[in-house]
Amino acid sequence: MGKEELLKLIPAVNDILSENKSEKIKNDYSRADLLEGIRYVTDNLRTKILADDFSETNFDQESLKAEKILDSVKIYLKNIYRPEMSPAINATGVVIHTNLGRSLLADSAAEAVNNVALHYSTLEINRDTGERGDRYSSVQDIIKKLTGAEASLVVNNNAAAVTLVLAAIAEDKEVVISRGELVEIGGSFRVPEVMEQSGARLVEVGSTNKVYLKDYLNAVTEETGAFLKVHTSNYRIQGFTATVEAEDLVNDAHQRDIPVIEDLGSGIIFDLQSYGLPYEPTVKESIDAGIDLVTFSGDKLLGGPQAGIIVGKKKYIKKLEHHPLLRALRVDKFTLAALEATLKLYRNFDDAVDKIPTLKMLTESAEKVMQRAEKLFSYLDEYDNFTLKIEKDTARIGGGSYPLTEIKTYVLTIDSELISSEELAYKLRQAEMPIFSRIKNQKLIIDLKTVQPAEIKLLAAEINQVLREEV
Ligand SMILES: *Cc1c(COP(=O)(O)O)cnc(C)c1O
Repeated sequence: MGKEELLKLIPAVNDILSENKSEKIKNDYSRADLLEGIRYVTDNLRTKILADDFSETNFDQESLKAEKILDSVKIYLKNIYRPEMSPAINATGVVIHTNLGRSLLADSAAEAVNNVALHYSTLEINRDTGERGDRYSSVQDIIKKLTGAEASLVVNNNAAAVTLVLAAIAEDKEVVISRGELVEIGGSFRVPEVMEQSGARLVEVGSTNKVYLKDYLNAVTEETGAFLKVHTSNYRIQGFTATVEAEDLVNDAHQRDIPVIEDLGSGIIFDLQSYGLPYEPTVKESIDAGIDLVTFSGDKLLGGPQAGIIVGKKKYIKKLEHHPLLRALRVDKFTLAALEATLKLYRNFDDAVDKIPTLKMLTESAEKVMQRAEKLFSYLDEYDNFTLKIEKDTARIGGGSYPLTEIKTYVLTIDSELISSEELAYKLRQAEMPIFSRIKNQKLIIDLKTVQPAEIKLLAAEINQVLREEV
């Protein structure tokens, strides 16, 4: 059958509308939606038939039937009403996965977001006077308590925090930084580029692996606006290295009236070594060392919403508060609600570790993960063409935090001769609640480290559905 004849087989809109199946769709969608869907599907069929590489033998003539067209219309309409940004199951084993939304909120933080979404709030109003209040006051006391800093400010993310700090403290001035700390994070945050944007001029000192106090001091001129330290959170320089202790740098800087700024990246509130993680500097240590302004992320190791938290000396925070950039970088009520609730969990460290999902995942034992793996396994059917196994593996922290740390985990591996792991991974991503996995040695890996207990049943059902289709 030629192209012309096939085109003529595409039913008229009215004929499609008179099919029984269209009544059902009309119950769920408007007439306008139905017509849009029919137009979309029939246009696609036309395009397919008219395409240069059209092959009659591969073309399914059945797809031209009104009934089949309506099936496609149903899928089309379902998809346009389905949110593009959908909740997902993170089975990659990367805990702080930036592309999957970084940190999950604690229940109390999610509830706080929900509350300010559905009600008006005291975002920026003073209860006592009824007059306009301060946007940041809800989190300032708790940040002070947890970090020991005199003052604080919150902006949209840590990149914004660094930009604001440099713009307010060192615009048109020189900022001295060690060559070993010119980091790039995730491709979109490069210290040199951020400095340029802020109007500060970069002065690099030392070498990649070594920097001494005298390097900083020799670089001081009339133009020096600040010393900047950047925590090399996503890599480590090992071997012959030398860095300058914060206290020493602060001492000499302050003698010369130069402020010291530190970008801590992840920013942990308390030492996690007793929970089995390697040493990572806490925000309080930087404040205690006398650093004037410290910046860190809200949604990395802190486990809260996306935010950039700035802590330090009152006189510098005041400068930031009066900088015009702050208005452009300011956080909304959802961020502040979630951040306050998250920070309040830190009043008790055991609470924080138990209730903040990021910390819980990082500190829980491998046995706990194994239990989740076994539970998942128990819900899975048996398949002739797939080998399903529970194995030991290593998960990663991600988010540029603890770059060399591997954490013990248990995974489900799926192996098949029938279908490649890439194809299988693709199909799992198309599930109702998309599943993101990883591939290792050609096997598909479902890492239970990052799968939440409440997701296991659904995860099993979706895996079963995909595997069943392949049998
Ligand atoms: C992650 C990171 C940033 C960027 O923080 P965002 O909150 O993603 O904007 C900046 N500096 C360091 C050292 C980081 O690790």
